[in-house]
Amino acid sequence: RETLVEVRNLKKYFPVKGGLIQRTVGHVKAVDDISFDIYKGETLGIVGESGSGKSTMGRLLIRLLDPTEGQITFNGQNITKLPNRKLRPLRKQMQMVFQDPYASLNPRMTVGELIEEPMIVQNTMKSAERKAKVIELLGKVGLNEQARMKYPHEFSGGQRQRIGIARALSTRPDFIIGDEPVSALDVSVQSQVLNLMADLQDEYKLTYLFIAHDLSVVKHISDRVAVMYLGRIAEIAPKDALYSEPLHPYTQALISAIPSTDVTKKREKIRLEGDLPSPSNPPSGCSFRTRCPKAHERCAIERPELTDMGNEHFVACHLYTNEDGTKKEIIH
Ligand code: SF4
Ligand code: MG
Repeated sequence: RETLVEVRNLKKYFPVKGGLIQRTVGHVKAVDDISFDIYKGETLGIVGESGSGKSTMGRLLIRLLDPTEGQITFNGQNITKLPNRKLRPLRKQMQMVFQDPYASLNPRMTVGELIEEPMIVQNTMKSAERKAKVIELLGKVGLNEQARMKYPHEFSGGQRQRIGIARALSTRPDFIIGDEPVSALDVSVQSQVLNLMADLQDEYKLTYLFIAHDLSVVKHISDRVAVMYLGRIAEIAPKDALYSEPLHPYTQALISAIPSTDVTKKREKIRLEGDLPSPSNPPSGCSFRTRCPKAHERCAIERPELTDMGNEHFVACHLYTNEDGTKKEIIH
């Protein structure tokens, strides 16, 4: 299996200003030393509450934000510090679909212009070719040719997201980041857009990073899922393992909160105490310990690192390692 995106020890710290002269008094560690790979053709789901750093992570990967530290490799090329001039030819290979199609589409441009714009920026096609491509893409996302002359406000939320997807596809990308692309849509429309994204993935051999705040949204579309908490990955695993045998107490709580359709498999809902701590002042040791039902002494002292439990299942929790860092055997 080939790797498309390789992330190593990635950090993004935002300064926090305070006091009369607004000097830097601390940092929000939005992304705090994260490493993982995204394989070609897969969908990696990333789930976390707001403040977990998942959107920052997405923006770092396609260099909409500059990392504080760490390394990002895309298709074998280290892009961590590439200047804008050198990023431009790569930009067409990585696109983003945003949560809010209302905010991300310029209301004064027609749908045809919106889909054509990234192709104009890339400057690799003649006008007639671009026009033909717009019509083709509208068809691919389930809109008719007449949509070209209309404006975004004339469409429903789900249709607008289809327009956003067509726009993202216009440069023939390899990699698409969906930053909560269905969160603003009605549940019935969500599944239509998810199905469309899955079909387009097969047709265009796309690799997806799919960001969501809720495990149920990424369940069907993902091959693997990562759970983030306060700028760190708590657990990352193939989808089936993550949903059927979650290891991290945070993942276990999130999964217990998904309403089960299968009455024979009713799980007890695990309630998390307290709120998400301030990302500028996270707890020592394991940042989840203030809400963890299984927190113990070691959790306040030592930060758990992601540990390979086998079968591509990684977890960052002291329940699964010995004091010397070696992994414990999981007893099923
Ligand atoms: Fe809970 Fe400790 Fe594991 Fe953190 S390291 S998730 S506090 S048991
Ligand atoms: Mg898929």
